[in-house]
Amino acid sequence: MTSHEIRKAFLDFFVSKQHLIVPSAPMVAKNDPTLMFQNSGMAQFKDFFLGNATPPATRIADTQKCLRVSGKHNDLEEVGFDTYHHTMFEMLGNWSFGDYFKTEALHWAYELLTEVYKLPKDRLYVSVFEGDKKDNVPFDQEAFDIWKSILGSDERIIYGNKKDNFWEMGDVGPCGPCSEIHIDLRPEEEIARKPGKDLVNADHPQVVEIWNVVFMQFERRADGSLDVLEDKCIDTGMGFERLCMAIQGKQSNYDTDIFQNTIQVLEEMSGLKYGANGTLSSDNYGDVAMRVVADHIRAVAFAITDGQLPSNNGAGYVIRRILRRAIRYGYSYLNFKEPFMSKLVPVLAKQFKDVFPELKQQEEFVTKVIEEEEKTFLRTLDMGLKRLDQIFENEADKKEIDGKTVFELSDTFGFPVDLTALIAREKGFKVDEAGFKAELAKQKERSRKDATKEAADWFEVNELDNPSYIGYDHQEAVTKLVQYRKVKTKKGEEFHVVLEQTPFYAEMGGQVGDTGVLEFKTPKSEFTLEVVDCQLEAGLHVHIVKKAPFEDISIEDLRAAQVTAKIDKTRHSNIIKNHSATHLMLAALREVLGDHIVQRGSYQNDEVTRFDFSHFSKVTDEELQKVEDIVNTKIRQNIALDERRNVPIDEAMTLGATATFGEKYGDFVRVIIFDPKFSIELCGGNHVPATGEIGLFKFTSEGSVSAGVRRVEAVTGIKALERLREQEAIINELKAVMKSPQDLVASIKALQEEKTALQKKVEALENEKLQNVKLDLLKTVVEKDGAQLISAKVEVANADALKQLTYDLKAKLEKPYVVLGTELNGKPLLAVMIDDSLVSDTLHAGKIVKEAAKEMRGGGGGQPHFATAGGSDVNGLQKAIEKAVSFL
Ligand code: ATP
Ligand code: MG
Repeated sequence: MTSHEIRKAFLDFFVSKQHLIVPSAPMVAKNDPTLMFQNSGMAQFKDFFLGNATPPATRIADTQKCLRVSGKHNDLEEVGFDTYHHTMFEMLGNWSFGDYFKTEALHWAYELLTEVYKLPKDRLYVSVFEGDKKDNVPFDQEAFDIWKSILGSDERIIYGNKKDNFWEMGDVGPCGPCSEIHIDLRPEEEIARKPGKDLVNADHPQVVEIWNVVFMQFERRADGSLDVLEDKCIDTGMGFERLCMAIQGKQSNYDTDIFQNTIQVLEEMSGLKYGANGTLSSDNYGDVAMRVVADHIRAVAFAITDGQLPSNNGAGYVIRRILRRAIRYGYSYLNFKEPFMSKLVPVLAKQFKDVFPELKQQEEFVTKVIEEEEKTFLRTLDMGLKRLDQIFENEADKKEIDGKTVFELSDTFGFPVDLTALIAREKGFKVDEAGFKAELAKQKERSRKDATKEAADWFEVNELDNPSYIGYDHQEAVTKLVQYRKVKTKKGEEFHVVLEQTPFYAEMGGQVGDTGVLEFKTPKSEFTLEVVDCQLEAGLHVHIVKKAPFEDISIEDLRAAQVTAKIDKTRHSNIIKNHSATHLMLAALREVLGDHIVQRGSYQNDEVTRFDFSHFSKVTDEELQKVEDIVNTKIRQNIALDERRNVPIDEAMTLGATATFGEKYGDFVRVIIFDPKFSIELCGGNHVPATGEIGLFKFTSEGSVSAGVRRVEAVTGIKALERLREQEAIINELKAVMKSPQDLVASIKALQEEKTALQKKVEALENEKLQNVKLDLLKTVVEKDGAQLISAKVEVANADALKQLTYDLKAKLEKPYVVLGTELNGKPLLAVMIDDSLVSDTLHAGKIVKEAAKEMRGGGGGQPHFATAGGSDVNGLQKAIEKAVSFL
């Protein structure tokens, strides 16, 4: 079976078991503060497990793009060295949300593997959870019994500990035991020598876990205790690449048809042969490098496709690091000195065009972004190598690179540590690893401190009965408190509040959260809480409040409290102007620049709208003006908002709606239309009832954010007017300063020209003066002890002129000994020039000025033949000159 057939067979099998097939969520996680990237199939269904949202079906199956390079799962360092861990991989999964449980899940898993895929039964092993006394969770008898009846005996059942066989979503939340399926892919002779059972979970490259079936049956509380869940769930995850290796009878994931296309291209480009010395060796760096590159290009290309550009922080930095790891392996072991990763994008785009068509659609953009990153990093590699050469020269005695330098190379220059170590070794240098680790630990500590936020359990006040957002229709709600919790942050403490109904928009899709107040009326008291932000968490609108007296109020009173939630209307109205203007702007940008304009990021608060989009050159002032004109025309036309909710996604796309790459859309979407011939977008945000309300639209800046991505900022409404007024005020002030000329610009230009001319004149005069001083001084030469001595207090324009003067004098004399003093801005300055032939241990200009400067309360130093000193006491200048002369 080809990999395409294997994937299809999985989905078809679960369709036959009444599962709904859903698309993969974008790999980049949005709106989940705990996650940067999808790291398992279940991540996109979190809200369903937590009961905060209702799944579209109780049985679901899919293939999910996952990335494991940050947070809880980080396999990065393994990738390339072993043959079965990837950064990005596909996880095939099937789910039951309160529907079937262990019996069906395990029977179907076995049926699929052995009857559809025809994997040999005697190569499979399964594990069940052995129980954990400390945690008070028992042995999973149920799973054991089911497996025993499926397999006919317990011979192939393994007991797993908490680390391998108990799954938790996080510190708190749903959890439960799991059962893994492992496969032994070794040749018969080896199996005869050692049974596969002994190699399960022992990091053997041919005895690997392929499928994990999780039984969500508990919920973990913040105090560590476990509650039994009412609606039990199934969550399974099967590594697609490993499955293909097993079915295609390969020894390594990289030998399957999933990676072979890429590897062949790499062979052609490098002239090297993959696996020439045995594919699996991790000592053969050429092979490791091909695996690294073949793996990483997938992760990077799909991350960019799904909206995450490489950058200097957060998720963007993770992507940049993956890309750089690949470039450096290619650079060091495949001899690629020019961009090569970007050349692999078309291979992937073609291979995945039917499964993940989004890459094909953005092929050109993704290629360009990667190429630019490559160019930059190849330069960095070059710079880092030069820097290292310098270190090798400077530290030739020590033969060691200290930890701080290694850290600086990696942190500031992005120069990978392992590369530093490798090159160091080639030069016979050691790397101070302990020192480096210490620096790294310090940095980790710094970022840990930045991130700490400790949340207590939610305290449930009223039953969570379908909390709803009513902000599309109302700015106020009379409602009830559902739950709250206290959160310790770096800055102190805050409260998170969830209401039954809320008019507060939670930050999403670029639009900031609303602020406002919550007015509480309990049977015994009344108080108002200020909401400083509203964030989305697991599908809930979480109102963030700095102070709240909840802990002093009885639960009965809280439960009975009437809560009036009111948003800050003025701020909200500024935000929605910016948001609607963003839609008009995108449509106008496409009209002016072309259809390749795709949204890459957007942000709207009550001040500005910031918008990133793909475009390869600077947007000219003329183009910006055209866009402004179009947007402002649409504003003046006062087009009414046409908002449609719950539109089936297919219907919305037929309308011609613009979807954003990397955004996850459900089956039903909200469509925002301003003139169906102009702007139709899928959007969950808030908008003006008619475009006229925006008032005015004005760009304030245009620039580049990264390769192929431009950023514009604009203001609307009263802010736009304020902005124009500010500009006008500046012009008026300028006019007043310039005495109201007829042509302001011409008169400023004239002033500049005049200034330049005057400057030239002054310089010429000063030069002339300096020449005169020089001639005068030459007349005062005194022969003393074989030297020609000149000493004087002179008048010069600046320190440079003093230096120039001493050098000019030197040029005119045979054996000069020149001591000049001057006063600049009330401070003394001394310069000493000694002919090279006179220089000795005692006749050393640097030492002389140092001594002499004491007379004018100052200090200085310099070379043996020339030095200067400053001071703070002008009255001592004459004495200082005499002192300097006295050395002769
Ligand atoms: P392993 O111990 O092999 O790292 P895991 O316990 O981390 O696996 P799970 O979190 O249970 O794996 O993920 C479910 C399945 O996803 C695994 O059975 C495996 O087939 C696959 N998988 C996990 N991590 C990777 C990875 N980095 N690359 C490819 N497949 C993976
Ligand atoms: Mg793992």
